[in-house]
Amino acid sequence: MSMAKTHRSSLLDDDKKTVWHPYSSTHSEVPVFAVKSASGCQLTLEDGTQLVDGMASWWCAIHGYNVPELNQALTRQLDNMAHVMFGGLTHQPAIDLCKTLVAITPKNLDTVFLADSGSVSVEIAMKMAVQYWQAKGQNSKQKFISLRGGYHGDTLGAMSVCDPVTGMHTLFSDMLAKNYFVPSPACAFGEPCLDEHISELKTVLESHHETIAALILEPVVQGAGGMKFYSADYLKLAKQLCEQYHVLLIADEIATGFGRSGKLFACEHAAISPDIMCLGKSLTGGYMTLAATLCSKAISDTISNNPPHAFMHGPTFMGNPLACSVALESIRLLQASNWQQNVQRIAQQLQRGLKACEQFDAVAQVRVLGAIGVVELKQVVNMSRVQQAFVDAGVWIRPFGKLIYLMPPYIIDNDELNTLCQAVFNVLNDGKYR
Ligand code: PMP
Repeated sequence: MSMAKTHRSSLLDDDKKTVWHPYSSTHSEVPVFAVKSASGCQLTLEDGTQLVDGMASWWCAIHGYNVPELNQALTRQLDNMAHVMFGGLTHQPAIDLCKTLVAITPKNLDTVFLADSGSVSVEIAMKMAVQYWQAKGQNSKQKFISLRGGYHGDTLGAMSVCDPVTGMHTLFSDMLAKNYFVPSPACAFGEPCLDEHISELKTVLESHHETIAALILEPVVQGAGGMKFYSADYLKLAKQLCEQYHVLLIADEIATGFGRSGKLFACEHAAISPDIMCLGKSLTGGYMTLAATLCSKAISDTISNNPPHAFMHGPTFMGNPLACSVALESIRLLQASNWQQNVQRIAQQLQRGLKACEQFDAVAQVRVLGAIGVVELKQVVNMSRVQQAFVDAGVWIRPFGKLIYLMPPYIIDNDELNTLCQAVFNVLNDGKYR
């Protein structure tokens, strides 16, 4: 046995003994692979195997890996300070980042509350909404309304607004706050939104708006709850209904933010400004964990001007300077790149490359929006089998449920994209997903 192989198997033995992976059993048969390094769109495993990355590390690494500009931003900041508390102290990286976020997001989002992860930014958004209404003397507005097929994170508040079934949290339903759900929009992206598509949202708002603080949704793209793309008109009408019934709109752009859907923020497809917006994932180009909750001045002023004259949240690592510095550089890089063209190019190639999968009986639908390509199967995939098959094909693609999808870094080249699409086709053709 070669040294590399021995090292790899002892590493994986240790991993199996002590490390718990996301959404997994400690006795899982699904293989785990040790990564030694990553650069551009390639992951290099401990045994030297190279994989083309189709996941951008759960949709974060929009510029790929080992990006010189991002590395430099981090090391530059490291020479100044890695971290200081944010209570009573501030610093240039946080100020510059918050200014930039206000400048690039839809108008009306004026104040930024920095958070440590996407789920936490959703908790913050929910607390903001409740505290806003309390500050206005409307204490009964404590509930939320959200869309079936939605996903907003794994913490308790976030779980209470995830789809009760596909949101992966059924087990905890008895301990979660009871919120309202309306059907996932049945009008697909590019189609009009008819009365029948939005009628249930209207009915629930009409009947219960006095107890509802906010509608929370993922604009246009429902990600981890099913990878569905819905009509921008639905979003537009939902915003109008929120205004009509005095309910805040929280746009969870954690997955869609920073260009993934073809617009810098998915709200732009409907030309709407939410009252609160959550950002995360690709905020730092996938380098560090950081998220942000933005809100209107009306919300931050109302909370600040009324008892207890403070927004009641404050994580230890809030505004981490390393994360803020790398986020700023990631946004600068994105804006300096021709990301729109890149996302459009990826969309076109995903359309061409994945369309061929429609011929398989096992495939329910192929859909593409921006740099997101989805092959939805009729049955849940066999994860152990499909995961190994993709690695054997030299690609990193991690399906879930019935979905095999691609969300590559924007810098991916056409050959690498072709390799990804071909691997999906071959796995289906060879039946290695059953
Ligand atoms: N909201 C959306 C739309 C997401 O896609 C995710 C992560 N998949 C989250 C919230 C939670 O983010 P995090 O995993 O960083 O807590």
